[in-house]
Amino acid sequence: MELEAVIGLEVHVQLKTKSKMFCRCDNRDDQPPNTAICPICTAQPGTLPLPNQQAINWAIMVALAIGCKINQESKFDRKNYFYPDLPKGYQISQYDKPFGYAGSLTMPVDGQTKTFRIHRIHLEEDAGKLLHTTDGRHSLIDLNRAGTPLLEIVTEPDFRTPAEAKSFLQELKLMMRYLGVSDADMEKGHLRCDANVSLRPKGDDKLYPKTEVKNMNSFRAVERALAYEIERLTGLWEDGQPPKTSSTHGWDEVAGKTVEQRIKEEASDYRYFPEPDIPPVVTTDEKLAQLQVALPELPAQRRDRFQRLYQLSAADAASLVSDKLLSEYFEEVVSEFRAYAEAEQGVELTARSWESDKAKVCKLIANWLLNRISVEHRTAHGLPVPAPDLARLLWMVYRQYVNLPAATEIYEHMRLTKKGPHQLVKELGLEQVSDARVIETAVKDVIAANTKVVADVKNGKAAAMQFLVGQVMKATKGKANPQLVQQALKKHLGG
Ligand SMILES: [Zn+2]
Repeated sequence: MELEAVIGLEVHVQLKTKSKMFCRCDNRDDQPPNTAICPICTAQPGTLPLPNQQAINWAIMVALAIGCKINQESKFDRKNYFYPDLPKGYQISQYDKPFGYAGSLTMPVDGQTKTFRIHRIHLEEDAGKLLHTTDGRHSLIDLNRAGTPLLEIVTEPDFRTPAEAKSFLQELKLMMRYLGVSDADMEKGHLRCDANVSLRPKGDDKLYPKTEVKNMNSFRAVERALAYEIERLTGLWEDGQPPKTSSTHGWDEVAGKTVEQRIKEEASDYRYFPEPDIPPVVTTDEKLAQLQVALPELPAQRRDRFQRLYQLSAADAASLVSDKLLSEYFEEVVSEFRAYAEAEQGVELTARSWESDKAKVCKLIANWLLNRISVEHRTAHGLPVPAPDLARLLWMVYRQYVNLPAATEIYEHMRLTKKGPHQLVKELGLEQVSDARVIETAVKDVIAANTKVVADVKNGKAAAMQFLVGQVMKATKGKANPQLVQQALKKHLGG
């Protein structure tokens, strides 16, 4: 019997609003314990919650970005449960009128285009954090996180492999960053994910009892935990004992396995009812149109545009777009390159138009950015070299004024000294020699000094030719334009 995995995701995204969801406390997550708290988020009697408009706007924008329908009359509900990190004894969440529902997200997965449906997206507040002392005798509470705005995004069970689930989460993270609503860093808990996984015979469209997998703190953990759980469930099915009830398992990163946890509560246990202290949230048509217009370019749109406008391959476009800052830097370098080329055109670029060079130029720039800008050279807010300087350096590469090894050396100096490329070419003496007379002289010298090799070349030995090219490069201290050297040698040797 062939089995297939059925995976659904429940994702929480912490929004980076200035203040919390229902009070004015500072929402930054790096403050000393219990310093960003007030009577509202610590649930003192008589306090009233006031919804954060920015969080609501962002929730609707995210819902629009993932193609959801919008509940223009939405509301908040109380989700009742007891836990020491929840001082109110209930969480303000949304039950039957979430801000968004019935959306979908289309993205590339392993070279294919896949669409995953979104069940719903709603807004809620986070709970505080419990910290347990290492001796196991005390538990401490930090309420800074209590009341932080959280978006919950629930997918349909549309994923068939751990890799699909991972790609979806990565795309979601990227979207949150493009939208500017969250850093969506999994390691920092800005993006948290629970996954439901079950198996079924392939072709069956029924859903079987599932495992809810929790505690996955990285994209890799999600992929590993799901792969582990699928293997475990496959074993049960093959033994003729598929699970009869759903269960909750936590992922143990160190042991590399999932461990069964408490039994999951049913929705009715939470005794949801409408939050009496907050009126329904109405989004007018006009407001909705404003939020739609305010949506920035999203990763999928940028990938398409990069392929069309810059004639990049799908893979290069995806790599650049996967880093918002790098994709913006790419556009800046292209634009600076063009401006510089046009400024130089009267002298150097006669009869060359931008359009005919564009694909080659963009490929050169993309290659440089993807292969030579190492992560460790980047600061939190920028790239190592100003875009106009990099554009000028790559222009010199494109025009073959410097060769690639020389450009790499110049780039390293640009990064460390903040000097411009033209100054460094002179200082380092790395200008590529394209002067025909200089190359001609070097070629004649090399031919005169290597008569035996020259004879080999004339007898058709290709390797001998490479030796001669190498000798000329050596004679010009590596600065000669290799193509011109090849040409000159061929001319002299009648090749
Ligand atoms: Zn507060």
